[in-house]
Amino acid sequence: MAGAASQGAQLPGSSEPPAGLDVRSVTVRFGPTTAVDDVSLALQPGRVLAVLGPSGCGKSTLLRAVAGLEELAGGSIHFAGQDLAGVPTHRRGFAMMFQDGQLFQHLDVAGNIGYPLSLKGIRGSARDEEVSRLLSLVDLQGYAVRRPATLSGGEQQRVALARALAARPRLLLLDEPLSALDRSLRERLAADVRHALTTTHTTAILVTHDHDEAFAIADDLAVMRAGRLIQHGTVPEVFRRPADAQTAQFLGYPTVLDPEAAERLTAYLSEPVRGQAVALRREALRAAPIAERDYRQGLVGTVERVSAARDGWHLEVLVPGIGRLPAIATVDVATRVGDPVALQVERSDVVVLGEGGGA
Ligand code: ADP
Repeated sequence: MAGAASQGAQLPGSSEPPAGLDVRSVTVRFGPTTAVDDVSLALQPGRVLAVLGPSGCGKSTLLRAVAGLEELAGGSIHFAGQDLAGVPTHRRGFAMMFQDGQLFQHLDVAGNIGYPLSLKGIRGSARDEEVSRLLSLVDLQGYAVRRPATLSGGEQQRVALARALAARPRLLLLDEPLSALDRSLRERLAADVRHALTTTHTTAILVTHDHDEAFAIADDLAVMRAGRLIQHGTVPEVFRRPADAQTAQFLGYPTVLDPEAAERLTAYLSEPVRGQAVALRREALRAAPIAERDYRQGLVGTVERVSAARDGWHLEVLVPGIGRLPAIATVDVATRVGDPVALQVERSDVVVLGEGGGA
């Protein structure tokens, strides 16, 4: 184990990679509440899965079930081909990281990170080398002798991450690890968490209600709602084809249109959308001024709201037969409330919702 220290990466063995996590039809109940309802998903070794969903949808319960902290009412959980039923938490080889880090306040940073190493019998220079490798992995060189109480929230979470990785877990379980931090710090740290997980080839599950955090950290995405798994795929797959209207909204799409509105919106395109609901990215509609006499041609509407943004004007345009839609206009376009505008539809920013979605 210590031999890999100077490489800064824990490469998987050269032989066949073991199968990763396999969750099969898992159900967890608390009295009358079904917190996790017949969820199945798999995670390949070395990949990072984000479980995304609103508060109370069962994300943490699923994570805790994987950790062995909740009893299953049904289904099974396998890791590397082994059924984990009856395997207690501390024998699963997993590590957990929480929102508040839970550092040992009486130990300095090096003591915190080195703790799991000591438990594994790694001592002396091997331990020191590994601690300093982990410190540089989370960009905290020079922090070894600092006490947790003297660190910012972001720094504490970096130490917590380094400590979790020090255990070289077969699976790292992250429960809303960045939620307690402010947004700008969260964005920066999300990129660093991804870097740390990918360079160490750590298989991980991240639970979050923040789609930006999920996109920034994960390879795969599982969307949950009311205990059920709604959608599961790679991040781009899920983002390009949300299963339904609620999922699209949860993934940050500002607008979802039912099939009739979608057909009207795309009627002037070479490939109109028929019979399917769509979600629109903010960039999907570009507004240009038109003369009153052209008002009956193409997709047109009336500006109801204008606000300045970094990338131009953000408009709300009332389109007859569809409703109020967000659109953008370049800064050189003079737009005022009440103006008629022509809307150009960017087909690549119109996303058709998946099976059974949206209407
Ligand atoms: P999330 O992590 O998505 O916010 P949770 O997994 O914490 O959701 O909770 C899912 C559901 O299970 C909620 O209705 C919650 O109130 C309930 N629940 C979670 N833990 C317990 C518990 N220990 N006892 C009773 N109900 C619980």
